[in-house]
Order: sequence, then C-alpha cells, then structure tokens
Amino acid sequence: MAKIGAIEAGGTKMVMAIGDEKSNISEREEIPTTEPKECIPKMVEWFRLRNIDALGIGAFGPTAVNPKDPRFGHILITPKTAWINCDLRGPFLRELNVPVGYDTDVNVACLGEAVFGAAKGLSNVIYVTIGTGIGAGVMIEGNLLHGMLHAEAGHIHVERVPGDDFKCNCPYHDCCLEGMAAGPAIEKRWGKKGYELAGNDKVWDIESSYIAQGVATYILCYSPQKIVLGGGVMKQEQMFPQVRQKTLKLLGGYLVTPELDDIDNYIVPAGCGGDQGILGSLELGRRELEK
Ligand code: ADP
Ligand code: ZN
Repeated sequence: MAKIGAIEAGGTKMVMAIGDEKSNISEREEIPTTEPKECIPKMVEWFRLRNIDALGIGAFGPTAVNPKDPRFGHILITPKTAWINCDLRGPFLRELNVPVGYDTDVNVACLGEAVFGAAKGLSNVIYVTIGTGIGAGVMIEGNLLHGMLHAEAGHIHVERVPGDDFKCNCPYHDCCLEGMAAGPAIEKRWGKKGYELAGNDKVWDIESSYIAQGVATYILCYSPQKIVLGGGVMKQEQMFPQVRQKTLKLLGGYLVTPELDDIDNYIVPAGCGGDQGILGSLELGRRELEK
C-alpha cells in the first residue's frame, strides 16, 4: 500500500497528514504558518522522515495551479507579504523526489467532497467556504477548474441588502460577497464574533441573503449538480433553510430541474466533517501517483 502525504496550506496554519490509497489517515500534525523559509523546510523534513510515495497540496490563494503556467505551484500576490511569489510546490518536488499534486485549498476541498463527502460520485460540484474569506472550489465534468488562474468566486459583486449600511471589508471591491459576508465582516458589522451571535436572527437573515446571492450566481454560471457549503460561518446551520429559500427566490423559477425540486439535498453542509480539505489533498496526491 502506498504512503501518501497531504498538506492543507492555510494562512494561519499548515495541516500535514499521512494516509494510504484508500484515504485512511494514520497521522496528522499542525504547525503555524510562519515565514516560508522557516515553515517549508519544517514540512519537507516532516514528510522526509515518513518516506512518502506522493504528496498532494491544497494552498491558499491566489496561487498558480495550472501546470502549464510557468509559476505553477507558486503563491502569487497575497496580503501575507512573506509568501508573495513563494514557490510552495518546488521544494517538496526537489527534496522528496516524489510526484506532487497542487491545487487551491477550495478546489481540493471540492475534490474531497466529490470523492468522499456530500457530493460523492458527482462530477459537477461547487464547494464554497465561508470562513475568514469566501472562496469556491469548482469541479466541472470531473476536473477541477483552473483556466487563467482559478475561480475567485468570493469576490463577485453582490447587491447590498436593504438596510445594511456596512462598509465593505474588501480592500479591492465596494460590495463583494467576501467583503460583506465572510467571518471578519460579520464581526466588524456586529462587534462580536460569529459564534456569539448565534441567537440574533437579524444577523443570519442578512448573512443568508448575501450567501444566497453567491449561490444563485454559481448555479446559473456553473450548473453544478450539488453545492456544498462549508467553513466556520456555516456552523450556523440554521442558515441552510434560509439560504435554500432565498436562492430559489433569486432564481425566480427560471430553472426547473429535479435537483432544485429537492433543494434540501442540493444545497448541503460538508459531508467530511471538516476533513474535506485534507482528504482532498490526499486524493490529489494519490491521483498524482497514479499518473
Ligand atoms: P479559515 O477560513 O481561516 O480556514 P474557518 O473556516 O474556521 O477558518 O473560518 C473562520 C471564521 O469563521 C472566523 O471569522 C470565525 O469567526 C467564523 N466562525 C467560526 N466558528 C463560527 C461559528 N460557530 N459561528 C459563526 N462563525 C464562526
Ligand atoms: Zn472583494
């Protein structure tokens, strides 16, 4: 049985894991995301000691994920300045000499959900994370979408919810989904952490109105067979029925499909219980080995 390594490279922490080809995880460790020159050698060493046959990396973005891109495997422009133009994939490839699969954190989470989770067996899937940021992983006909770069679906323009005068939290956009509805926007708007606001219906009414705008747009543009919503903010599960109803309202009855008729099974929570990222990275590593 092959030994596969997985990394979920996030802005605050790096999760590393070892698993087999069937994605049984045997070991896992987390280290904080410090500067690359400190953080990357630590991870390389961790995997070197474990003699892996392949590695899968899901990385925070923006990052170059198209193998044809000369910057493939590099983090691009990011607010985490130490990581700008950092080659994240290269050191593992050179030092460990094993196949290394590389994609965005949300694309690998989408893969995890499509192979093991709530969208198991489907080939057109959107995974949305609503956490510190908002991002979407997109699987189309079984392939994770790259194209020019990768989807940046958290930064789509949304319509301001009537009565909400919050100043958008995104440095680039006046009223984008991430700037209006990610965890930090909730915290700034209400002056409390998301989990402290659980009982405040108004918070989740506004929040679900923004999320539904994103979801409706993704449905219209990508035609997914299922939409999986994850990330810390979606721990407020009372939002699911609201997001579903508001999405249908925004679609205005234009699309008639069996999936939309069964909306409770169409817009769903993650099925991997928070492990979609690391399981997706493992699967990415496994696929790289298979190649
Ligand atoms: P990240 O996006 O950094 O990978 P998470 O998906 O855990 O991490 O998202 C973190 C964000 O989710 C924070 O802004 C946090 O306030 C928010 N969050 C975490 N738990 C909850 C909760 N139970 N209810 C609402 N918001 C939450
Ligand atoms: Zn934005």
